[in-house]
Amino acid sequence: MDIRIYGDEVLHKRADEVEEITPEIKELIEAMFVKCPESNGIGLAAPQVGVSKRFFVVVVPESSEDAEIITHAFKQVFINPVIKEPAGSWKYEEGCLSVPGIWEIVERPEAVNIEYTDIDGNRHKERFDGLMARVIQHEYDHLEGILFVSRLPKLKQELLKRKLKALKERERDY
Ligand SMILES: [Zn+2]
Repeated sequence: MDIRIYGDEVLHKRADEVEEITPEIKELIEAMFVKCPESNGIGLAAPQVGVSKRFFVVVVPESSEDAEIITHAFKQVFINPVIKEPAGSWKYEEGCLSVPGIWEIVERPEAVNIEYTDIDGNRHKERFDGLMARVIQHEYDHLEGILFVSRLPKLKQELLKRKLKALKERERDY
């Protein structure tokens, strides 16, 4: 499972609804639950692994002094998510596994509601704030074909142009 990098067309288009949670999709979700922390990420969207479908995983590891015990403070897949009722505003530094080497401050709503389907097909509605709301909005953007760098002020985007061009042109070594 390769992580797609900036410039790969699958990252720049709107992903399709999940019509049915097939065994293949379940398998992919399980693989993403592993790939996400393995890559030192806390969120991973299907388009980032080359699948243009509307779902993403969030895996926030619990910090533990005992490396033998791998526990998860939060682990969830969000299928066909819909974000509603954004509130507040928060500037926080973001990075992205698909845009390696770039970390920038992005302004986003501080809290959001999200409606989503879980792996068993049940629909949920929950409210998140802080870091969780941040990850959810970043990952949701991937389903819309939006990368966090295009949420930056225009001047900042100009300054990043060369770095982004280099990412686009480099050979994938993941
Ligand atoms: Zn990302």
